[in-house]
Amino acid sequence: MPLRSLTVDLARGHARQLLPAEVERDYLGGRGAIAWLLWYQLEPDTPPLSANNLLIFAAGPLAGSSGYATGGFTVGTRSPLTGGIAYGWAPGHWGAALHRNNVDVLIIRGEAPDWCYLLIDGDTVRLRSARHLVGRDTVATAATLSAELGGDVRVLAIGPAGEVGVAYASIVAEGQYLVEPAGTGAVMADKKLKAIVVRDRAPLPVADVARMQSVLQSIQQRGERHPTANAIRAIGSAGLLPAAIKLGALTSRDARTPADGLAIARMFSEIARRGGRQERGCAGCPLPCYIDLRTRTGETHPLPSLELIAGFGARVGITDADTMLTIADRCLRLGIDPAAAAAAITFMTEAQDEGLVRQRTLNWGDGAAVIAALDRMSQRREKRDILSLGVGEMQEAVWGSAAFAPQVKGLAMPALDPRALTEIGLAMATSPIGGDYRYAMAFEELVAEPPAWLPPPASGPRETEGKA
Ligand code: SF4
Repeated sequence: MPLRSLTVDLARGHARQLLPAEVERDYLGGRGAIAWLLWYQLEPDTPPLSANNLLIFAAGPLAGSSGYATGGFTVGTRSPLTGGIAYGWAPGHWGAALHRNNVDVLIIRGEAPDWCYLLIDGDTVRLRSARHLVGRDTVATAATLSAELGGDVRVLAIGPAGEVGVAYASIVAEGQYLVEPAGTGAVMADKKLKAIVVRDRAPLPVADVARMQSVLQSIQQRGERHPTANAIRAIGSAGLLPAAIKLGALTSRDARTPADGLAIARMFSEIARRGGRQERGCAGCPLPCYIDLRTRTGETHPLPSLELIAGFGARVGITDADTMLTIADRCLRLGIDPAAAAAAITFMTEAQDEGLVRQRTLNWGDGAAVIAALDRMSQRREKRDILSLGVGEMQEAVWGSAAFAPQVKGLAMPALDPRALTEIGLAMATSPIGGDYRYAMAFEELVAEPPAWLPPPASGPRETEGKA
């Protein structure tokens, strides 16, 4: 069936259209449709931060069904960080709600005259003023719009970081799920689009219910038996941390020295023992990997992800549990990509060490300075904070720093060290979006025991066979 697109021009109105049948047939899933649209509908020299750039959201083919782990979405654009194609994605339920409103692909173009949000509710497509939401964080924005419009809406929003032009600002879905990697939030902000709200509806029917259930059951059974799945169920993506430490994939001081794996492991076990645990994984998922925990002062913060610990814990050297929980919360609320923020901070700390930057504002292991930097870059100021540029642009601003800037094609590298993980290194080097291995989901090396159902040769950390 041809994909159903909804195009919203933020200055002119909207239109529904069927894309040519070949897009659905030959370009599998959301990423494929986005690539096709950018190729055919975006002028070659369009600046990323301009009204003519496109911001395209697409849900996967199964989104909207009752199957677990199908409700997320992909978003693509021309990236202000790389000048090339950007993809980000988030799990959750927003993509499912989009599909349930008969939209496979949502194309945003133009620029609104003032801050607005988009509401999609069946046949109703409206732009409404978002003046009252400016300055609100992503969690508060989702809560406000849910209260105003009724609880059955799914909200994605940018936070204060996007509003003030942080280059690696993130979109956050449902006040819970960060869109990663970076690149798309800054484009949404440039269009003065604070949020996109979709009213949820009943699950869509599937053609062969029995077959779908049997596939979902078999995935669930595999997950029940595997130790890595059990670790992820207990502590989210940080369940891969012991393997990363063992393989030497955590490095510190902008990857100059091996990280203190013991200190990181101790901090994380302290985090994992915290009370007030609330699972907030995607509906029906047998592997709920998003978890909230309580800090010592009683606040609820998200469990830090693997990338956040590798970046702020190992690279920057923060080993205090509460500080790490606060950083995870700040990234979510301000709408900042954690991997890109950690890369910017490690890069700037090293530039200060090397005497390439005069002012000393950061030190290795100084969590308070990191939190202050995240807050500062998300506030409107006369002079733009250099930390808000992203590593690719920062290395151009700091003469002599290119050799130690953790970036590929302008996109920050997440902090798992590719020298220890060959598959991740290959993924970073070849990804079309820049240096982020998550484009290829190259996590097999961190799975302690390759699952029996993987086709041979089983992937081991030092193997090169079968990896490209
Ligand atoms: S809870 Fe985690 S594993 Fe489950 S679908 Fe969501 S992101 Fe995926």
